[in-house]
Amino acid sequence: MTKCDRNVWLQGGNEVCCREDAPPARPYRLVLLGAPGVGKGTQAELLSERLQACQLSTGDIFRAAKAADPSTLTPAMRDALGYMQRGELVPDDTVIALVRERMTCLRCPYGFLLDGFPRTVRQAEVLDEMLAGENLHLDFVLNYELPFEEVINRLSGRRTCRVCKTTYHIVTKPPRQENVCDKCGGELYQREDDRPESIRVRLQAYEESTAPLVDYYAKHGILRTISAEGSPQEIFARTMQILSERTA
Ligand code: AMP
Repeated sequence: MTKCDRNVWLQGGNEVCCREDAPPARPYRLVLLGAPGVGKGTQAELLSERLQACQLSTGDIFRAAKAADPSTLTPAMRDALGYMQRGELVPDDTVIALVRERMTCLRCPYGFLLDGFPRTVRQAEVLDEMLAGENLHLDFVLNYELPFEEVINRLSGRRTCRVCKTTYHIVTKPPRQENVCDKCGGELYQREDDRPESIRVRLQAYEESTAPLVDYYAKHGILRTISAEGSPQEIFARTMQILSERTA
């Protein structure tokens, strides 16, 4: 199986997806919800391998832009990076425009795993419109839940590889060699928005703007809440159990 090609998602515009494996008969289209630090990204990676669907993270688009030559960024993207650095949400119009430019990924015959989008009710409404326009629908919205103290713990200990973006935790999932990625040898760093001052702002943004999505999707009957306690494999097993509920 060729791995999913996230260049189209990260770069947008004119990139072309070059997957060659046969798409699944019934692709999954999922949204992953949950406070920063609950492990959505890790679950998205595991699900991506299992389901063939690409992990589409809006946060990754901003991080890719941050690593790019600043002179190539649009003013809206430069503003967006300021919001991200402070741990605040980027304005809806900017995020929605970025997702619209990547409509190809939402139409993908392999399905998709949206990670970090939508994050406000307005974004969720626009996503519904975009999907309805393509005659597509979400299978489930997976809502990962974790006690507040555990969220802080996971975020403040998280380290990310600069090169391949694999994540570690200084206590629960340390790399073999301090600050060096086991997979590619890249340098590990602490994301600016994983520092204590930004964590506070991010969790507040989550409570105010993103938590209302739980009600929004519950009303649509597609919300499934999953405990994010335990190891990634345990959480993944719970997730697969939920997905097995999908009717034929
Ligand atoms: P994440 O990696 O999903 O935690 O995203 C990192 C940062 O990118 C967030 O703290 C926001 O500043 C910004 N961001 C990512 N996705 C969105 C979104 N859907 N709406 C608003 N801001 C976003």
